[in-house]
Amino acid sequence: MRIVRFTRSGRVGYGIYEDDYVHVVHNPFSPKKTGKRFDIHDMRLLCPMTPSKIVCAGLNYVDHAAEMNMPIPDEPVIFLKPPSSALDPGGTIIYPDMAHQVDHEAELAVVIGAVAKDVSCADAPRFILGYTCFNDVTARDLQRRDSQWTRAKSFDTFGPFGPWVETDIDPTNVRVEAFLNGETRQSSSTANLIFPVVKLVSFISKIMTLLPGDIIATGTPPGIGPMKVGDEIEVRISGIGGLINRVAAAAPAA
Ligand code: MG
Repeated sequence: MRIVRFTRSGRVGYGIYEDDYVHVVHNPFSPKKTGKRFDIHDMRLLCPMTPSKIVCAGLNYVDHAAEMNMPIPDEPVIFLKPPSSALDPGGTIIYPDMAHQVDHEAELAVVIGAVAKDVSCADAPRFILGYTCFNDVTARDLQRRDSQWTRAKSFDTFGPFGPWVETDIDPTNVRVEAFLNGETRQSSSTANLIFPVVKLVSFISKIMTLLPGDIIATGTPPGIGPMKVGDEIEVRISGIGGLINRVAAAAPAA
């Protein structure tokens, strides 16, 4: 099932996307069709959740660790992106004036479906609503300069995700790819994750309570690289679909 959040005629709603129609639901965490439906072409899709937090895994692909010449960590490294970094599918990534290298990072994101605190790996699937595409946009020059990653990771528009939540994929072996202006830049499988989805959910839930709609970005495979103003970036995940965004310069200060 594909769960979307959309805007239409000035209103925002959730729905189940089937064929060319979105069937309206009241509660995306327990989706039941209300009987009302709209044509998908008659609305704009929004990022499918409004998370209280976006938790990201650092180095989490064996092939990316090899590329970076870094040892495989023995527990997950995590950081946060603020909810204000969220960006809709089709939305514009704004290139910050203070950055000189802005990279794409294609990632599978987990969407939390129920309050999760101290959950085990075995129980973790019960707390997952589904999965979506995520681009962990990063100002690489600022990440290198700062000891904390907050500035590099947190600019408005640096957290595109969507275009919907897919509830029915097996996250242990999906293809995660990035296409820059249509050219393949990243391509790997979640079979190469160092810490699988259930481990991340369990680990993070032992630190912070996860709430419905929270996003966990599972880390990026090899091939990260810079984007320029005017570029189009797509994160594509097998079984989910493609998340497309463009890069634009910041508007001049008024
Ligand atoms: Mg990342």
